[in-house]
Amino acid sequence: MLRVLQNRREGLFCPAGGFFVDPCGHVSRAVITHAHSDHARKGHGSYLCSDNCKPLLKIRLGPKAKIESLPFGKRIKMGDALVSLHPAGHILGSSQVKIEVSGQIWVVSGDYKPQPDLTCEPFEMIKCHGFVTESTFGLPVYRWLPEDTIYAQINDWWVGNAENGIPSLLFAYSLGKAQRVLAGVDPEIGPIFIHHAVSPFLPIYERSGVDLPKVEKVDLDSEQNYSKGLIVVPPAVQDSSWLKRFTYAERAFASGWMAIRGLRRRRNLGKGFVLSDHADWNGLLQVILGTGAETVKITHGNGHALSRYLFGRGIDASLLNQPVSAEVQ
Ligand SMILES: [Zn+2]
Ligand SMILES: [Zn+2]
Repeated sequence: MLRVLQNRREGLFCPAGGFFVDPCGHVSRAVITHAHSDHARKGHGSYLCSDNCKPLLKIRLGPKAKIESLPFGKRIKMGDALVSLHPAGHILGSSQVKIEVSGQIWVVSGDYKPQPDLTCEPFEMIKCHGFVTESTFGLPVYRWLPEDTIYAQINDWWVGNAENGIPSLLFAYSLGKAQRVLAGVDPEIGPIFIHHAVSPFLPIYERSGVDLPKVEKVDLDSEQNYSKGLIVVPPAVQDSSWLKRFTYAERAFASGWMAIRGLRRRRNLGKGFVLSDHADWNGLLQVILGTGAETVKITHGNGHALSRYLFGRGIDASLLNQPVSAEVQ
C-alpha cells in the first residue's frame, strides 16, 4: 500500500502523485470523492473532483476555492500516478478514486452504494489490488429493501396524513437524501415544500438530468397551506424555532439509521424510513469481493465485523484510523 497510498494525519496521501484524498487540515492538492462535508473540507490549495460534483463542491467551499474537474473514466497523470474517477453511486457526482502506480492499482471508494438510485450515476465496479472501503453500515443487521418499497411506504404515510389534514414533515439530509426523496415520492398526493437549505442543490441535480417535482420553499411569513403537504427538512433544524410552526405535523426521518428502532424513539419520530445512500452489509460484501482486491482497508464506522468476515475469506483486511467523521447518512 505504501507506494500508492499512505495514511497521514491529514488523511490518505498518494506519494507518487503528491495528492491527498478527502483530507483534513490544509494540503496543497486534494482529490475529493464527493461534496458531503466530512469529505469536502475548506482550506486546501486546490481541488479535483468529478464534473457533476464540481457545482455541489462550489456551494460547499465558496467561490474562491480552486476546483478542477474530470469526466468519469478519464485518466490523467499526476506526478508518477495515473488517476481516474469512477461513479460511486452515493450522491450526484460521487466518485471512487482509482490510482495506479507502477502497475499497482488502488481504489479509494469514498462513500458508495451499489443499489440503484434515481438521483445519481450508477456504481461502477473496478478491479484493483487494494480497496479502501467505508463501513458506515458494516453489520449484517443492515439490509436495505428496494428503494421502490421505501418510496411506497413514504407515499402511504403522506396519503394517510393528508387525508386527515395533517402536514407530513420528513427529515432528510439536505444534499443527496432530500433530492432522493423528492425524486421518488408521488407529487400527485399534494404540494411539496422544502426547507431553504435544500434548495441550492436542486437546480444542479436538474441540470444533470435528474427529474424532480415542482417544490415550494417554506415561507413562514406567507399564507402557505401545509395541511396536505410533504415538507422536506434537513435534520439539523430539528429543534429550532422553525419547527414550532409545525408542532402539529407528523414527523418521520429518512435514513439508514432508522433500521435501529431505538433511534427513532429517542428522536421522537412517528415513523422512520430506511433509505440510505450507503451500502448495506450485502452491498459492502458484493462490492469488496467484486473488486478482487487482496488488500482492503476499512474506514468510517465500526469495521470489526467486516474485517473479520473478509479475513475469513482470505483477504488481508484491516481498519484504517482516519480523521473522525461527522456524517451520518
Ligand atoms: Zn457521503
Ligand atoms: Zn462519509
